[in-house]
Amino acid sequence: KLTQRLQKLIAQAGLASRRQAEDWIVQGRVTLNGLPAQLGDQADPARDRICIDGKPLKMAEPLHYVLLNKPVGYVTTAQDPEGRATVLDLVREVPVRLFPVGRLDLNTEGLLLLTNDGLLAARLQHPRHGVTKVYRVKVRGQLDEQRRRQLEEGVRLDDGLTAPARIRRIRRSAHNSWFDLELHEGRNRQVRRMCEAVGLAVSHLQRVQLAFLELAELPVGHWRYLRATEVDQLR
Ligand code: URA
Repeated sequence: KLTQRLQKLIAQAGLASRRQAEDWIVQGRVTLNGLPAQLGDQADPARDRICIDGKPLKMAEPLHYVLLNKPVGYVTTAQDPEGRATVLDLVREVPVRLFPVGRLDLNTEGLLLLTNDGLLAARLQHPRHGVTKVYRVKVRGQLDEQRRRQLEEGVRLDDGLTAPARIRRIRRSAHNSWFDLELHEGRNRQVRRMCEAVGLAVSHLQRVQLAFLELAELPVGHWRYLRATEVDQLR
C-alpha cells in the first residue's frame, strides 16, 4: 500500500507526534493537494502534496528498525578513531543511515536495536521510561545470597546507587556462575561495574532482551527487520 494516513506521514517526517498531527488536521492547518485535509485522509508521499501552515512537508527517509545480534569485537559508534569494526559494518545492506539505540561495550554481545527513527530512539533511552534490559551474565566466583541481594536492592557506584534490579539464576560450576540480570536503567558499563562492586568479575556478557524484544534464535552477527507489529508496540 502506497498511501498512509496524513498524521502518520507528518509524524514520520519528524515534525510532530501522530496525536499532534491529528490536532493540526482538525485545526485546518494541513492541506492535501491544495485543499484542507480531513482526519482520515490518506496520501502517497511520492505523489501527493502535503502542506502545514502553507509549507510543504519534506518527507524524511523511510523509517527502518533493525535488530542485530552484536558480536564481541565491534564498537557501537558510527566511527571509531582507532579504526576498529563498528556495528554499522554489519548492517551495510540497509539502505538508510542507521544509528544504534544505546550502547554495548566492545566485549559485550547481544541484542542491539538500530534505527533512523530519532523519536523512538530518544524515547527508548530516556531514563523516565525505564525500559527493561536483560543481560545474561557469566562471572568468575559464586553468586551467593548476599551478593544477589546487593545486586537486586542496589549497589553504590561512582555515579550513585543503582535502582532495584532482578536476578534469575541459571547455573553454577566450581568457579563460575551464570545468571540473568534485569535492569531498568542504562548507565555506562553498568553490569560490569555492579558485578565488580560486589566482588564478581564478568567474563561474558550478552544482552538478551530490550523492552519486549528478545534475541531468540538470531545467530551472532546477523540482523533482522522488526515486524510492523513490533514497531507499533514499541512506539
Ligand atoms: N552493561 C555493561 O557493563 N556493558 C554493556 O555493554 C551493557 C551493559
